[in-house]
Amino acid sequence: MTPAPMSDAHRHFLQALLALGVVEGSAAGALQRQCCELHRVYYAHDKLDDFINVANAQLQPLLMEVRKGLSEENGGTYYALVNLAETEFTKMASDYSESELELFKKTMDLIVSSGSGFASSTDILNLADQLKPKKMKKKEAEQVLRSLVQNKWLCEQEGEYTLHIRCILELEQYILCHYQGSVHKCHVCHCLCIQSQVCKDCGIAMHLPCLAKYFGAQAEPRCPHCKQLWPRWMLDTSTAGLRLPSHTPKESRRTPTSTRQR
Ligand SMILES: [Zn+2]
Ligand SMILES: [Zn+2]
Repeated sequence: MTPAPMSDAHRHFLQALLALGVVEGSAAGALQRQCCELHRVYYAHDKLDDFINVANAQLQPLLMEVRKGLSEENGGTYYALVNLAETEFTKMASDYSESELELFKKTMDLIVSSGSGFASSTDILNLADQLKPKKMKKKEAEQVLRSLVQNKWLCEQEGEYTLHIRCILELEQYILCHYQGSVHKCHVCHCLCIQSQVCKDCGIAMHLPCLAKYFGAQAEPRCPHCKQLWPRWMLDTSTAGLRLPSHTPKESRRTPTSTRQR
């Protein structure tokens, strides 16, 4: 079957997505509506994924794709236009110098190896004078971090950094290859997991929002793979009063038994 042709509404939608980098689910729906109304194209409010599939069929030969992902913090849906032809960090090279990219890569190393998905600004800024080809002053490194947050590569909360969903969507392949063995895919949604809890018995990982959704429907929190009890989850919910199924990023991060090893 030949794919349905793209309309001007699709083109407009893709241009906006390209400019924005990443768009939250309801904003993507609003954008679809605007584009359809502007170009007088039939609009169905609950058919965003179908609308995107039409675009994706046309984008495939160009090695591009609109990808949908869930925020690791709150489980919200996000969309990003991903270039599958560009490898690793080529897509960032126009915005950042070699040393700045080096800082970003080292920050990713810290985040991925933390076991919790977070790196502190102190730890990141301590890397500034080891960067190649050019060292950075802490002030400069702070500015680079600010720009990485602004461009939605990193998220920051109270001095702790993690990967933005945009970064995960765009660099998923790189992260999976480069950190083979130390990163997991979520057992529930099958997407790459940076902030996760891991089963101590069988080693499967789940995102915090996926875990909340999964265990919210169970009488007893048991691992979906090995069926052993998931004690950390019980502790988290009983001590922190975590609300199911959704909780704010702060709650999920500040639980006393969180996976962060400090
Ligand atoms: Zn998940
Ligand atoms: Zn297990």
